[in-house]
Amino acid sequence: MAPFDFRKNKSMSSPDTLQIPTDLLPRDGRFGSGPSKIRGEQITALVADAPTYLGTSHRQATVRSKVGEVRDGLSALFNLPEGYEVLLGNGGTTCFWDAATFHLIAEQSQHLSFGEFSSKFASAAKEAPHIKDPSIITSEVGTHPTAVAEEGVDLYALTHNETSTGVMMPIVRPAGATGLVAVDATSGAGGLMVDANEFDCYYFAPQKSFSSDGGLWLALCSPAAIERIESLAASGRWTPAFFDLKITLDNSRLNQTYNTPALATIHLLASQIKWMNENGGLSFSSGRSRTSAEILYSWAEASDFATPFVTNPADRSNVVGTIDFSDDIDATVIAKVLRANGVVDTDPYRKLGRNQLRVAMFPSIDSEDVASLCACINWIVGNL
Ligand SMILES: *Cc1c(COP(=O)(O)O)cnc(C)c1O
Repeated sequence: MAPFDFRKNKSMSSPDTLQIPTDLLPRDGRFGSGPSKIRGEQITALVADAPTYLGTSHRQATVRSKVGEVRDGLSALFNLPEGYEVLLGNGGTTCFWDAATFHLIAEQSQHLSFGEFSSKFASAAKEAPHIKDPSIITSEVGTHPTAVAEEGVDLYALTHNETSTGVMMPIVRPAGATGLVAVDATSGAGGLMVDANEFDCYYFAPQKSFSSDGGLWLALCSPAAIERIESLAASGRWTPAFFDLKITLDNSRLNQTYNTPALATIHLLASQIKWMNENGGLSFSSGRSRTSAEILYSWAEASDFATPFVTNPADRSNVVGTIDFSDDIDATVIAKVLRANGVVDTDPYRKLGRNQLRVAMFPSIDSEDVASLCACINWIVGNL
């Protein structure tokens, strides 16, 4: 037997120097849940259009037609029924929550709160002095509650995919409810199937399934949601212009935003929507995520050191997978080794505090790369 070589042993087990064999590595190492992977073709298309597009006025035809492409493309992708409209504004989803407290919630909202993001809209509604305290239904992290029709509630706030825990929920109108159904689909939109008849407002930001950058919000609004916006705007309720959804509506109808948007973000978004629509629409894009999810969860279930965090298989998200590790393995070390090898952002949601990795499986992420990631994790655990 060869004499014990301390240096060799150290280089084999220190996370900083563990080198994953290149044939195991995914072709693209981006697995972050937002901002997330942007496809090379989107960048190429942006670069090609740059000389006549970037650095030009958002009030002129070139940019406005790109915004029009986004609005029409989303209507097609989500098969929006007659009368639904696509609104967009600056500030991302977090800004939209505040806008919703002014111009979507009339008196009282009900929130399903089952993680960091869904709880944030509930807090925004609770803080707003001009509406009643919301009704909040919570459930354990790793599960989701169910909305129930409630007297006095005029808006039901659902979350398609709770990005902090990796739980997805079906979008259905609560039985017997008369209020609007507003869905935070920031991480779910484009990666999960949805029926537009089941919502009045399906809102998101483009840095997740839509492979663009942050800072913008988009909302698919039913005629009932538009009517609510118009009546609250006419009600005399004081509203800062930035959160005024009537101003947003008027600008969106002209393919503009109230103030200057990031033009690159809109271009990248338009490319992604086009890619989805040209390849078969939402069944194509959500199908890619579903295939990736099947790979990730079946790997974890077969593993003797990893398990899906979400117990109910139906609740396990197709777009953001959360995987727990057994106590003898430190997930932060795995994430660190992966990062040192160019495979990034698999860290769990910071406030969840579990021995876990979180893997984005948005439509842009190739399923073969998810399979490679699983192989890399197996290799790291075997070599630590
Ligand atoms: C990322 C995310 C948000 C926050 O989006 P911002 O654009 O950063 O405000 C909100 N809700 C969900 C479900 C998310 O995944």
